[in-house]
Amino acid sequence: MADVETDFDLFIIGGGINGCGIARDASGRGLKVGLAEMNDLASATSSASTKLFHGGLRYLEYFEVRLVREALIERETLLRAMPHISWPMRFVLPYHKDMRFEGSTPTSKILNIMMPWMKGRRPAWLIRLGLFMYDNLGGRKILPGTSTVDLTTAPEGKGIEDRFEFAYEYSDCWIEDSRLVVLNARDAENRGAKIMVRTKVTSTIRHEDHWVVQLEDTDTGEARTIRAKMLVNAAGPWVGDIIQQKVRLNSTEGVRLVRGSHIVTKRLFDHDKCYFFQGTDGRIIFAIPYETDFTLIGTTDAEHDDPSVKPVCTDEERDYLVAFANGYFKQDITSDDVVWTYSGVRPLYDDGAQSATAATRDYTLKVDTNGGAPILNIFGGKITTYRRLAQSALAKISPHFDGVTGDWTAGVPLPGGDFPVDGVDALIRDLMRDYPFVDARWAKRLVRAYGTDAKNVLGMAKSAADLGQDFGATLTEAEVRWLMDKEYARRAEDVVWRRNKLGLRLNDMQIAALDAWMVSQREAA
Ligand SMILES: Cc1cc2nc3c(=O)[nH]c(=O)nc-3n(C[C@H](O)[C@H](O)[C@H](O)COP(=O)(O)OP(=O)(O)OC[C@H]3O[C@@H](n4cnc5c(N)ncnc54)[C@H](O)[C@@H]3O)c2cc1C
Repeated sequence: MADVETDFDLFIIGGGINGCGIARDASGRGLKVGLAEMNDLASATSSASTKLFHGGLRYLEYFEVRLVREALIERETLLRAMPHISWPMRFVLPYHKDMRFEGSTPTSKILNIMMPWMKGRRPAWLIRLGLFMYDNLGGRKILPGTSTVDLTTAPEGKGIEDRFEFAYEYSDCWIEDSRLVVLNARDAENRGAKIMVRTKVTSTIRHEDHWVVQLEDTDTGEARTIRAKMLVNAAGPWVGDIIQQKVRLNSTEGVRLVRGSHIVTKRLFDHDKCYFFQGTDGRIIFAIPYETDFTLIGTTDAEHDDPSVKPVCTDEERDYLVAFANGYFKQDITSDDVVWTYSGVRPLYDDGAQSATAATRDYTLKVDTNGGAPILNIFGGKITTYRRLAQSALAKISPHFDGVTGDWTAGVPLPGGDFPVDGVDALIRDLMRDYPFVDARWAKRLVRAYGTDAKNVLGMAKSAADLGQDFGATLTEAEVRWLMDKEYARRAEDVVWRRNKLGLRLNDMQIAALDAWMVSQREAA
């Protein structure tokens, strides 16, 4: 590529997990990277997931073996690089002979021909086969394999209806999705990237060997122009909008927008395992211990036509999840038990599948060089495969530049993740020893968010008063300053819904006071 005077080698549109993952990887290979996110980092899909690093057991029924295998192998690589924000979890899958397939999976079609008397029911041997593959496709070293649970005696059976006598139990991992995004952005910045939040890409002009990109500060309305040799379109649900409106490519590729909603209730069971519930409609949902005192239940699959329409959990979706869970839990819940909901849009590659549930969760990367400088468009993907997606993206980006170095991210910890996978308890103990005024619950929250950086958040404090203003629920001025200085937080909602989940514990007045304080600090600065 000709050597034009540009601000950036690579300019990334979108600060979700895919944009930030690519920014980190590319900066570490010596490229000069810029990234624009029109809202807060992870403000769209990447904070609205079920928060699992998982292979996706159900995708085996769609024969998506490559995707499942890649994701399974990846789980442990990711866990090692971020033992603060990710941890192993056991999933209890209660079995009942009346459980049904989604009718359109390749597996259900074959079984309908070979075993018509099953009438769409999922046989136990098939679940065992799926779990055997799940255990063995991904080269597990840390995570334990499948076992069985006698629900008539085990604690996991206590809150579950008596007709479920038996369950399978298998492993996957939890991930704090929005923190994963921010830590990738921080690491990218540490390696030289420029991360611009609340900065929207409004238009682009393509030249032979570079792009001119028009940016707008969404807080002030101020416009600005940058130049870059290559663009990456990692706009998630807006990938089509960028292609058609901002870059105006002649492309037929598209995404299928599939909304998924979750509900949160007060804690519904007394152990730390998750449930994997199968419904009579062939779908599955999870019920997951969440933020110590809560249970997270989801998700749904609903078509969502327009990315500019903010996804919300509809009453219908909420009632569906409540009814689904009530098919399993002895103690019924009602919509009054729902304390919070959230919703996100999956930007799935449009592979022409009939149902939203069946659309592929795999990713597709397409470079367009027609008519000038290159652009890479990202379709689909999962949180779990973000690092591999970034590596595949770099394989497509590197040939457009000289001297780009090779793959490097496997095994390199994210900020705060430089400690052993089983080292969380020791970090919590150390923090409580060094800061005796921090109790166990507070210490755990800080270590689970910041890992080895937790002590940097607390700094030289000798007492709680040294941490400045107390915003409630252990959120202090020192922590908010850290989030504003190091983690791109601008408003209270960035802090209480994406850097942590203290929005579940703070009331509206406390959140408004935090917001006013943050705005005043920015104005003063
Ligand atoms: C309900 C649900 C559950 C899920 N559960 C899981 C799970 O458990 N495990 C898993 O691995 N995956 C899961 N996923 C999938 C995963 O969340 C997504 O694949 C992933 O978050 C997509 O990330 P992204 O970066 O492509 O998109 P996004 O996170 O949406 O990021 C795109 C960003 O681009 C920005 N943007 C758009 N246009 C512009 C512009 N013009 N200028 C500047 N910025 C712009 C947007 O503001 C947005 O922040 C789930 C998804 C959903 C919806």
